[in-house]
Amino acid sequence: MSQILENFSDIQKKIERSTASCGRTISDIHLVAVSKNQTQAKILEALRTGHRLFGENRVQDAIVRWTDFKKEYPDIKLHLIGSLQSNKAEDAAGFFDVIETIDRPKIALALAEAMKKQGRYLPCFIQVNTGEEPQKAGVLPAGLPELIEICRASGIDLQGLMCIPPEDEPAALHFAFLAKLASTHGLKHLSMGMSGDFEKAIPLGATHIRVGTALFGARAGIDV
Ligand SMILES: *Cc1c(COP(=O)(O)O)cnc(C)c1O
Repeated sequence: MSQILENFSDIQKKIERSTASCGRTISDIHLVAVSKNQTQAKILEALRTGHRLFGENRVQDAIVRWTDFKKEYPDIKLHLIGSLQSNKAEDAAGFFDVIETIDRPKIALALAEAMKKQGRYLPCFIQVNTGEEPQKAGVLPAGLPELIEICRASGIDLQGLMCIPPEDEPAALHFAFLAKLASTHGLKHLSMGMSGDFEKAIPLGATHIRVGTALFGARAGIDV
């Protein structure tokens, strides 16, 4: 068995175990395989396991890496999980299937316009900077209500919230906080949990987990 196949089945087992432990089912959880900075060979191995849902953090890198794979495997779904610049909104709306990282009004408006122009109304998430870390992307919790209003008013199909907890704090606190924010605002999806902590995110309501290194191994080059 290939290493990647082994990793996928190991993660599936862990997802099964954590969903079972909290009375959820495995179909509640979408595994977004984070392929940023991984080799084409590893991605191809992942595709050969039958997996079709992937996450990338940069628009241009994703286009370079995925254009040919998308021709070969038309059912691939790509999530944008890195922060977006407004001048890339058109490319993002045209190439991705879900945008997880709306984090400010300017991006919401640029995306809304790009999606209208292309007739592609993608499901979107707002990224929340739950730890209020200055270096991290995401709207501050205090700015969330206004950003949600702007998204909804501009016709964005807003489905959920996403967060990346601070490294030096218990992730579970941030997952629980994000879940509370989502339920307050009537949003049904929660993108939270990565290689190191997805088993904590599932009992707290994650619907999407974003797993990179646990599936693909260490990333090449500069990690962002
Ligand atoms: C890189 C990245 C991940 C994956 O992280 P791993 O620890 O490799 O699982 C998940 N979410 C975001 C937003 C990322 O940038």
